[in-house]
Amino acid sequence: MRNQIAAANWKMNGSFSKGKELLETFKENFNSLPDFQQIIIAVPYPYLAWASQYATSFMHIAAQNMHHQTEGAFTGEVSAPMLNDLGINYVILGHSERREYNNETDELLKQKVELALKHNLTPIFCCGEPLNIREAGTQNQYVQAQLQNAIFNLSADQIEKVVIAYEPIWAIGTGKTATAEQAQAMHEHIRTCIQKQYSFETSQSISILYGGSVKANNANEIFGQTDVDGGLVGGASLQANEFVAIVKSLVA
Ligand code: PEP
Repeated sequence: MRNQIAAANWKMNGSFSKGKELLETFKENFNSLPDFQQIIIAVPYPYLAWASQYATSFMHIAAQNMHHQTEGAFTGEVSAPMLNDLGINYVILGHSERREYNNETDELLKQKVELALKHNLTPIFCCGEPLNIREAGTQNQYVQAQLQNAIFNLSADQIEKVVIAYEPIWAIGTGKTATAEQAQAMHEHIRTCIQKQYSFETSQSISILYGGSVKANNANEIFGQTDVDGGLVGGASLQANEFVAIVKSLVA
């Protein structure tokens, strides 16, 4: 069975005390999870070292980004080896907010993904189309190009270590969720692209998360789709009870 994952992306929200409250609540609610279920919490950089104390075999702390080089004169940046130092083993790469506000391109993301894997960090690689592309009906080609340009250079062994998050930009933080059918259709398309590029086995082994206004009241239906293996959750991950319910919606 593929890993079922509930990933939280706090973005630049909250505070130390709010983060503590959230992590304490998750710790209290989850003493254990089945082997194939994982919780990943992507916290802001300053909290990474502290948050690591909450990491368990099933609850991981993640970074929200990392630089594409290992060291150097890059003021304000954080490197893969620094994440290694803290025992961090997941990193979100290519979130649409970074693509938009920090001009991150597929070419840059290709370098980041390769570097993350080289340093034993699991990339949560984000892809997804903006509204105008969805309205034009060309979302399949758009997402396929993102995969092709940023991660299809990897070997089968490498890509099997990547988690993919499909996040339609028009559904992020807007309260507009893709319907379960829209999510399933794109996840199936992504899996087919992987199958064509690699193999059926590889396509079946990769966890593909849905992101875009996942809440406790829609997680069950979305996570219940054949090709959806959990979610990447922004807003709702900042409300302890919401995120606990979302984790409980993972397919058992
Ligand atoms: C996200 O930022 O990855 C996200 C999916 O946000 P939200 O759940 O708030 O739409």
